[in-house]
Amino acid sequence: MGKAAVFLDRDGVINENRPDYVKTWGEFVFLPGVMESLRRLAQSDLLIVVITNQSAIGRGLVSLEEAKAINHCMVEEIEWAGGRVDGVFMCPHRPDEGCDCRKPRPGLLRQAAEKLDVDLKRSFLVGDALSDVEAARAAGCQPILVLTGRGREQLTQQTQGCPVVPDLAAAVEHILRCQVQAAAPGPLSPGACPGQQPGAHTGRAASEASRPAMRAGDASLADTRR
Ligand SMILES: [Mg+2]
Ligand SMILES: [Zn+2]
Repeated sequence: MGKAAVFLDRDGVINENRPDYVKTWGEFVFLPGVMESLRRLAQSDLLIVVITNQSAIGRGLVSLEEAKAINHCMVEEIEWAGGRVDGVFMCPHRPDEGCDCRKPRPGLLRQAAEKLDVDLKRSFLVGDALSDVEAARAAGCQPILVLTGRGREQLTQQTQGCPVVPDLAAAVEHILRCQVQAAAPGPLSPGACPGQQPGAHTGRAASEASRPAMRAGDASLADTRR
C-alpha cells in the first residue's frame, strides 16, 4: 500500500498569490505562519508534495529553468526552517493547451502518486482555488480549501462539502487531527477525513480538540463556534 501524502498548492497557500504570476524569486513571499506549519507537518510521516500550475511558463513570462530555480529556493528556505518537501510537480502549460496535468485535471496528482508511491485515497490536497478542490476530487483525495490567496473569492456552490480553513496552519491542524482519527476512530464530522464514510462516527459529541473544520456552505464562515 502506498503512503499518505499532503499535496500543497503553491501560490496562495505557501506564498502570496500574484495576479501577474510569480516570475522571480524576489516576487516569492512566504505567507505568515507557513514555515512553522511546514515544520510541524514535517514531523509527521506524511509525504509533503507541492503541486502547482505555472502557466506563466507556457505564456512565456518565465522560463522553465527560472521556475524550477524559484521552486528550488523555496524548498531550501523551507528546509532551513526545519521543514521538508518530498517533491515538487509543476504544470507548465497554458489552459488552452489542454494538457492532462493542469489542475483541475488530476494528471499532476497521479504523476506524483506514481513517482512517490502515494495512496491518493488517504491523501489530502490543500489549495486556495476551486481547481485544487476539483483536482483533489478527481484524483480521489481529500481537498481542503484555505482562505488565503484566492481562497475567499473561490467559495462557491462547487466547494460545498469541502473543509474550509483560514490558512495552511489550520489545514495542517485538520490533517494531523485526521491522522489521529485514522489511528483511533472517534468523533469527527462525517466525511472530513479521507476514507471516512459519512455517518460512520456518530457517537460522542465532538470535543474542543476534535472540532471539525468549517465547511463551505455553513451558515457563517466567519464563526466556527457551534
Ligand atoms: Mg493557488
Ligand atoms: Zn500541464
